[in-house]
Amino acid sequence: MRVSGLQRRFGGLLAVSGVDLALPAGRVLGVIGPNGAGKSTLVNLISGHLKPTAGSVLIGDTDLTGARPWRIAHAGVARTFQIVKPFRGLTVADNVTVAVMFGPARIRSRARARQEAERVLERVGLGGKGGLPPAELTVADARRLELAKALALRPRVLLLDEVLAGLRPAEIDPALRLIDELRGEGLTLLVIEHIVQAIAAVSDEILVLHHGAVLTQGPPDEVLGDERVIEAYLGH
Ligand code: ADP
Ligand code: MG
Repeated sequence: MRVSGLQRRFGGLLAVSGVDLALPAGRVLGVIGPNGAGKSTLVNLISGHLKPTAGSVLIGDTDLTGARPWRIAHAGVARTFQIVKPFRGLTVADNVTVAVMFGPARIRSRARARQEAERVLERVGLGGKGGLPPAELTVADARRLELAKALALRPRVLLLDEVLAGLRPAEIDPALRLIDELRGEGLTLLVIEHIVQAIAAVSDEILVLHHGAVLTQGPPDEVLGDERVIEAYLGH
């Protein structure tokens, strides 16, 4: 994935301002930054949920700048939402089954789609909870469902927007292990996080957003020791 000069203006505010990033296949890029830095906007621009006011998004050789979310999903890019978005009228399993049936895998048989959904639910740790309505899930399980819906699309690139938020310490490690596993299977991941230390452990590189722009990018150790990064977080 390659993002060049990406920009999004909201009235007088540049929420994302000339962001360049290259994400080689099979790598994990952690994106951190204080509240309001433009992290979610960046994901929305890549996934087609917002249109950029300038710049481009390429997946392989395909230019997906400004394309609709379904087209981007069908090109192999899936995402989770920071604010979870299940279909409230459907069970957990049906939420994932719908994603399987309408996703690029194009599994049209309901029985086969259901099987695939059960496999994905098992994988994210929701085995046995498929019959529940999403409203009855804990915060951690609601995040797992978000992830399951994204994985049901069998993506090549996965964009995770604060999937660790609200998790208890004991719930974070399994989530990180899953990210590592997905990377091992060749998935390319862009992982947005507020919990800096946690994400450093699974990222090949860290990119720091500040006021919509890239403050720095590099290996986790280097970035986390960078004084400018510490200052950005302290609000100077
Ligand atoms: P982060 O995810 O890093 O906390 P966001 O990308 O959500 O930051 O927001 C970046 C900036 O853009 C913030 O100042 C936010 O208020 C603003 N913003 C985000 N979405 C919108 C929108 N739809 N309309 C107007 N301003 C927005
Ligand atoms: Mg956000």
